[in-house]
Amino acid sequence: MQEVKPNKKPMYFYWLIALIILFLLNAFVFPSALKTRVQSVDYGTFMTMMENKEIGSVMLNDEEIVFTNKDNTAAYTTGNLNDPQLVDRLYESGAVFDKEPVDQTSPLVYYFVSLILPIVIMVFISRWISKKLAERMGNNPTMMQFGMGSGGNAAKIYVKSDTGIKFSDVAGEEEAKELLKEIVDYLHDPQKYTEIGASLPKGALLVGPPGTGKTLLAKAVAGEADVPFFSISGSEFVQMFVGMGAAKVRDLFKQAKEKAPCIVFIDEIDTIGKKRDGQIGGNDEREQTLNQLLTEMDGFDGNNGVVILAATNRPESLDPALLRPGRFDRRIPVELPDLQGRIDILKVHGAKVKTDRNVDYSEIARAAAGASGAELANIINEAALRAVRQGRDRVEQQDLMESVEVVIAGYQKKNKILSDKEKLIVSYHEVGHALVAALQTQSAPVQKITIIPRTSGALGYTMQVDEGEHYLMSKTEIENKIATYTGGRAAEEIVFNEITTGASNDIEQATKLARAMVSRFGMTKEFGMVAMENMTNQYLGGDTTLACSNETHTKIDEMVVEIVSAQYDKAKKLITDNIGKLHEIAKYLYEHETITGDEFMKILNGKNEAV
Ligand code: ADP
Ligand code: MG
Ligand code: ZN
Repeated sequence: MQEVKPNKKPMYFYWLIALIILFLLNAFVFPSALKTRVQSVDYGTFMTMMENKEIGSVMLNDEEIVFTNKDNTAAYTTGNLNDPQLVDRLYESGAVFDKEPVDQTSPLVYYFVSLILPIVIMVFISRWISKKLAERMGNNPTMMQFGMGSGGNAAKIYVKSDTGIKFSDVAGEEEAKELLKEIVDYLHDPQKYTEIGASLPKGALLVGPPGTGKTLLAKAVAGEADVPFFSISGSEFVQMFVGMGAAKVRDLFKQAKEKAPCIVFIDEIDTIGKKRDGQIGGNDEREQTLNQLLTEMDGFDGNNGVVILAATNRPESLDPALLRPGRFDRRIPVELPDLQGRIDILKVHGAKVKTDRNVDYSEIARAAAGASGAELANIINEAALRAVRQGRDRVEQQDLMESVEVVIAGYQKKNKILSDKEKLIVSYHEVGHALVAALQTQSAPVQKITIIPRTSGALGYTMQVDEGEHYLMSKTEIENKIATYTGGRAAEEIVFNEITTGASNDIEQATKLARAMVSRFGMTKEFGMVAMENMTNQYLGGDTTLACSNETHTKIDEMVVEIVSAQYDKAKKLITDNIGKLHEIAKYLYEHETITGDEFMKILNGKNEAV
């Protein structure tokens, strides 16, 4: 192992900065501070003063005239108008010609300020720097990198009182909490575990999509555990100076071992933990840092009480060496919350604002299917802002429902942007979706249909709400879903005999589903259970990479087209068979701009008296 060398590089910086400051002071500040302030006046004033014999000393050059009053208490400047007799007249007025009339400082003071003062300052700064240096190099070298309290990129130590976040602040994520609680419990009472012979897990890796509470969970661990908590973000390791990353890792662990039992939390570990791909000219700095991290994690045995938590939303990009048991023994999934999880998260955040007594969180949670914890927290906050905007002092259900839409689709656009014709097309389009969905499943397909444009660019949308949670989707369900996506375009074509750009998002979604059916879900006879694509970025949008020959690729494309067109035809048939209902509901939507799922079903089942 290498010796830990105190890194002196930053010291040059201090010196450099000190020199620059001195230079600037010398060049600009001192000279002007020494000079009396010079006031700019017009030529007339100069003439008058000259005639009244009020000028003390004067200096002439091609552009300007600098002069003072008789008792040298004020200095003036004015432009030189090239008057040939000026010198004579000045002489007559009794002015003294002087090279530098304004500089009134005695030479002694001048030399002191411009030469001696800088030296004195220099000496002071250098003494201060060497003192700092001595402090750092003193008996605690680890203080150097983390220099607690003295600024820099310090790993923050969280102790109990610091974060104030408890497990109770994290709603849902019961499994994750369970696993982390065990670690906290171990740190509090290791005896219980060592008596049986169990050893503490060395590390736990929190993985999941953004905004699901990984960082929050780590903070809760810090809040619950009575032990020191070091927190550092992966990007902080990768620094300007080559070699700093590895040194930082070394120092972090050295410090952690001294403070054991303790917890080290590395957020966004993927920045340093990426697979080493062995490419020439790869990121050496990052690899060194990773190697150091691997070494350190091996370097202590299970029972010395240092637990490493890390979080990432790109687990697949992590180096396999990092993931093997003995380094991160535990992988804790922190997934998007399910229905109950969403209700709980809404409750936790709802408790922080003043709410109406009959707020129904489960309705909100159902409407916000697929939302992450961060988005749910945002929904509550948007609702509170809306309540204030409307001059109320409590958050009501309508605020929450509206803010679900704000978070999903953006704010309502206030000014009228659609022509009547466009509005009509959008009405038919949206009802087309809803109608196809309802006719296939025989149930209320939507919570709400609206044709009020949103800032996200949506001109209207159909808000679908699942009754319960779905973990599986059957082939028929996927096909129905594709048909529903195509329903908007189908209605446009049938009614207006013309198609618009409004379906672009629907097309994208339908294609994605159809493609997944072929290439990932094995739902075609031709390919059977063979994966033609692999998911690469599960938690961040879900990119896929192709794993098949070009011929197969061409075939997949053909099959995707086939599936989507079949569903489009189905949608067209459903709509044509129910064209009366389409007109009826579209007209109602056009007039009302927003209709609820109940109203929709009433008209569909012919029970609406209002129309
Ligand atoms: P990430 O997983 O990306 O690290 P964070 O932990 O930073 O997400 O979460 C962002 C915010 O979202 C938190 O500060 C919190 O307000 C909210 N949040 C996320 N998940 C939960 C949860 N399970 N319970 C309560 N709040 C949550
Ligand atoms: Mg985070
Ligand atoms: Zn659409």
